[in-house]
Amino acid sequence: MSDNLPTLRESLEAHGLLAKKSFGQHFLLDLNVTRKIVRYAGPFEGRAVIEVGPGPGGLTRALLEADAGPVVLVEKDPRFIPLLSELDDGSGRLKIVEGDALKVKEADLVEGPAHLVSNLPYNVGTALLIKWLTGPWTPCALTLMFQKEVAERVVAGPGDEAYGRLAVISQAVCTARIVMHLPAAAFTPPPKVASAVVHLVPHAERPDAGTLKRLERVTAAAFGQRRKMLRSSLKQLGGATLCDEAGIEPDARAEVIDLAGFLRLADALEAREAKA
Ligand code: SAM
Repeated sequence: MSDNLPTLRESLEAHGLLAKKSFGQHFLLDLNVTRKIVRYAGPFEGRAVIEVGPGPGGLTRALLEADAGPVVLVEKDPRFIPLLSELDDGSGRLKIVEGDALKVKEADLVEGPAHLVSNLPYNVGTALLIKWLTGPWTPCALTLMFQKEVAERVVAGPGDEAYGRLAVISQAVCTARIVMHLPAAAFTPPPKVASAVVHLVPHAERPDAGTLKRLERVTAAAFGQRRKMLRSSLKQLGGATLCDEAGIEPDARAEVIDLAGFLRLADALEAREAKA
């Protein structure tokens, strides 16, 4: 990356680019902020990084300054591709892919382990996280900016108001913590809500695809009717009997059941379905 780049604001102006709401565009134009996010995400020690939604490239510049190996950008808005191409120094380190991150196959973009670092578009942030947690391709770490409420739903524990499906699925696969809070004013244009960066590191052993599917079914039923007792909210899956088989109190509500409890429910469901 050249040292003589225009500022991010100048780049946007030079290319006549204004943020589009439909793409969830809220830009980070302060390189001190993007460098800080990249410090939380790294060190990368030469491993590849995939950045979804680079927009004007503030995070990209910080990734290129750091010890990331190949940096692969996936941007859906074609207007940004020429601007991003200006960050390419011709060394082959930067790869720019125009496309929808919900549809791309990450395994086709990188060889070997890769980090995901992204200031996610809010409208598809949760769907992308679920894709990376449950899909066939697993990143070695994820450092992701979400709207604050979603970040809280990822890291919440039993008893927290934000505790639900997203927390259980995220924590079944990863350890997750919020590493940074950012006010709406940090973005151009400012969104209506505050944001937070979550750093997730997959467990050495993650549940297999079948267990994750059953965990999704159990948590969807349990939190879909979160005020009801499990004997009732899990009725379609076995109700009180399923709870007994999992060693869970059938009169409890989903909000007090920890990850280990939900994993036992998923295992009990597997055993029931194997017998049926
Ligand atoms: N990373 C930039 C920054 O921090 O300034 C931009 C972040 S902005 C919140 C989200 C970016 O994701 C935009 O550039 C938008 O065009 C892009 N985007 C939206 N939906 C996308 C999708 N499905 N796949 C890839 N990029 C997407």
